[in-house]
Amino acid sequence: MNVMNVKFLDLNRIHEPIKQEILTEINKIIDKNSYILGEKVEEFENNFARFHGMNYGVGVDSGTSALELGMKVLGIGRGDEVIVPVNTFIATASAVAFADAMPVLVDCDKNYNIDAGKIERAITKKTRAIIPVHLYGQPADMSEILEIARRYNLKVIEDACQAHGASYKDKKVGNFSEVSCFSFYPGKNLGGMGDGGMILTNNKELAEKLKMLRNYGQSKKYYHDFFGYNRRLDALQAAILNVKLKSLEEWNKQRREIARRYTELLKDLPIILPNEKPGREHVYHLFVIRAENRDKLAEFLKNKNIDTGLHYPIPIHLQKSYAGLGYKEGDFPAAEKYAKEILSLPMFPGMTNEEVEYVCSSIKEYFGK
Ligand SMILES: *Cc1c(COP(=O)(O)O)cnc(C)c1O
Repeated sequence: MNVMNVKFLDLNRIHEPIKQEILTEINKIIDKNSYILGEKVEEFENNFARFHGMNYGVGVDSGTSALELGMKVLGIGRGDEVIVPVNTFIATASAVAFADAMPVLVDCDKNYNIDAGKIERAITKKTRAIIPVHLYGQPADMSEILEIARRYNLKVIEDACQAHGASYKDKKVGNFSEVSCFSFYPGKNLGGMGDGGMILTNNKELAEKLKMLRNYGQSKKYYHDFFGYNRRLDALQAAILNVKLKSLEEWNKQRREIARRYTELLKDLPIILPNEKPGREHVYHLFVIRAENRDKLAEFLKNKNIDTGLHYPIPIHLQKSYAGLGYKEGDFPAAEKYAKEILSLPMFPGMTNEEVEYVCSSIKEYFGK
């Protein structure tokens, strides 16, 4: 097979076919000088909410802000504990700290999501909420999590930052909590050309309050009803995201197809492939495998011009910045074991069959097959 160069994510492949349409939209905004909130942001909020079957969307400046404001609007703050998975991007825990609350970590299961069976023992008198993350694009065990939340009277806030359009029992993620949070960081399944985020809700009152919280607590210009922030989604990002949203379903389909090919071509090797649980549609933000000597495999692929990633090399409890939480090595055995074995393979819409085959034949070559 010819030698190729396979990027981990090639955004040019995604943007090339829609570049002109995006430039036209950007031009319109420049002509109007309408950069902050306004029509384009509302249009995107409505479109994104409708796409997920939800009533209201509130655009913010990042996924982290979506989580932080989502907690604040539910009244979570000082003295409260919020349960988050130990295996996630750091922002899930950071947002809890930004909201002045305390993150309490729970280990992951073999699908890399929060282990619902271990949530109860992390609940204390101070626990107010659970933030399940639909990690890598696979929905978390929402039935079990919602049942625990109901029993202990806890709020649930979905972190759907990696799972735009994924579904659980035929409903899209974002439908399982009072407020749910999305990121439009460029590399996400739906990404802007800069930072951005969104909170979805079916509660009109919460939506209105969130719109004020992201905009200085303002009800009308220069009337500030409560303390608020500057966390707005800007109009350029909204215009770009509006164009890109039209392709999200097709892109997710392509991701699933690439995952299907990987799974087919890699099935007989000593690696652990993603396990799709029944009743949920994984949207493969990442295609994460596990192998012993993962670093050697990554190195071998690097020499074949194949880029890979690690999501994530250090679980949150072992990050220096979270040493203050008081956890230690050995506290979360699954996450610690997986962190040493995981490897994310190239995955993006527009990735060709030849590229998938080249990645797989290179992995086979590594294993001497
Ligand atoms: C990307 C991400 C976030 C944060 O989103 P930003 O837009 O980068 O602030 C939060 N949680 C998870 C799981 C993410 O992947």
